Amino acid sequence: MEKQELIQEIIRLKKEKNAVILAHNYQTPEIQEIADFVGDSLELAKISHTIPNQTIVFCGVFFMAETAHILAPEKKVLLPSLDAGCPMADMADPHEILELKKEHPDAAVVTYVNSTAEIKAISDICCTSSNAFQVLNSVKEKKIIFIPDRNLGRNLARFISKEFFYIVGYCPVHEAVKKEEILKLKEIMPDAEILMHPEVNPEVAVFADKLLSTGNILKYAMNVSNKNLIIATEAGLLYQLHKKAPQNRYFNIGRDMICPNMKKTNLQNVYEVLKNESNQVVLDPEIREKAKKSIVRMLEI
Ligand code: SF4
Repeated sequence: MEKQELIQEIIRLKKEKNAVILAHNYQTPEIQEIADFVGDSLELAKISHTIPNQTIVFCGVFFMAETAHILAPEKKVLLPSLDAGCPMADMADPHEILELKKEHPDAAVVTYVNSTAEIKAISDICCTSSNAFQVLNSVKEKKIIFIPDRNLGRNLARFISKEFFYIVGYCPVHEAVKKEEILKLKEIMPDAEILMHPEVNPEVAVFADKLLSTGNILKYAMNVSNKNLIIATEAGLLYQLHKKAPQNRYFNIGRDMICPNMKKTNLQNVYEVLKNESNQVVLDPEIREKAKKSIVRMLEI
């Protein structure tokens, strides 16, 4: 099918099946365009929980669809590409976490939502990059096992007087941002503000003007005007920035930061899962219920 025909069919099937399409900010522009809602992990998790539609096509990576299923198990959550994983989520090994818990029984396990359901199930509370600071401050324990993203943990730990323990977990897309790239940009564009995602390495993060989640980068840009903004996160966000805050000028870090897993969703596989109601994400009910506790605790903050 031609692109326009595919789009028409997706719209038709969506109506016929009363389905909703949710897309993460890192999806391609054509997927963001056909989505009913575009947002960051926290925004999409909340929407999947509250929308009345019984079928959700989740244009993102596996752990995001899992989170939607955990929060709304009565709904059908379809993931266009079952191969769309997250290397960071896969870096957390449940046995390693259980060992850390044994070593530090008085620590709270705070888990970034970019994690598998199995890991969430052995956690005390989840967080996202937009609420991690509030979550960490809400936890009474003075010791924190922060998993899986040690970069996010270390970037937050600078401002929180608690003791942190990490595993080796990171996002390869954000970890690849180098200090030299940022220093070069500062030299070329001294008037530009650098907005970075907190998944970058702490040695790079110190050069950020602001460390913000994708949702908060967007909110910040919508509230300023006529600025030169360098965006150090996955390239998909630039589409939303140009669309919702065209009054500023946006620059990448000298190259596009691309998450290959986020780009596995395309019009063809969205059409197919809608048509066949395939690729449904379903978890073992016991894991689902345990994981739900840590997500709900986060949403209650
Ligand atoms: S951008 Fe990084 S954290 Fe997000 S899905 Fe891709 S690999 Fe995972």
